[in-house]
Amino acid sequence: MDLTNSKVLDTQLIQSNEVSSSNAMELEGLKRGLQKLKDEGVTIASITTDRHGSVQKYMREKEPSIEHWFDVWHVAKGIRKKLDAKGKRKILNILLMWSKSISHHVYWVASTSQGDGPLVVEKWLSLLNHVINVHTGHGQLFQSCVHGPLEQNDERDWLIKGSKPYKELELIVKSKLLLKDIACLSPA
Ligand SMILES: [Zn+2]
Repeated sequence: MDLTNSKVLDTQLIQSNEVSSSNAMELEGLKRGLQKLKDEGVTIASITTDRHGSVQKYMREKEPSIEHWFDVWHVAKGIRKKLDAKGKRKILNILLMWSKSISHHVYWVASTSQGDGPLVVEKWLSLLNHVINVHTGHGQLFQSCVHGPLEQNDERDWLIKGSKPYKELELIVKSKLLLKDIACLSPA
């Protein structure tokens, strides 16, 4: 799909028996789609896909001139799923109050940073301050929340730094793999 004009440029239907395993279908579909567009004379500047491992490897090694972004929807959904699963434990219930906002935050960090990876990461990590009611002093590139002053008597479910729910949230938010991928979220 071309996001600029919202037109579907091509679709590919792959059957698992056309390739070595069902896991290989994504990459084969991508290869055929890219080839089709090239044959049509389309110059591809950037592409957004999910984080399928073989797709990442292929884009890195075979198509280095095409900028490769990750789809925000998949990442946001994955994070929300993790938070909701943790939040089922009584001691971690408070995470359920935050999972929707945190999922929205993924979209926000991606769509407001023009593809600037380090800025995306700082904005993302700032949530670990925001959830404990700290809204300034986040980082070098992103120093303060942009939501404006909160009411003194704002009754939010703030977390407490160092508490069990906070530590569990921290593990998810600061996961090495996630930080690597979040820097490559599609700004579109
Ligand atoms: Zn804040």
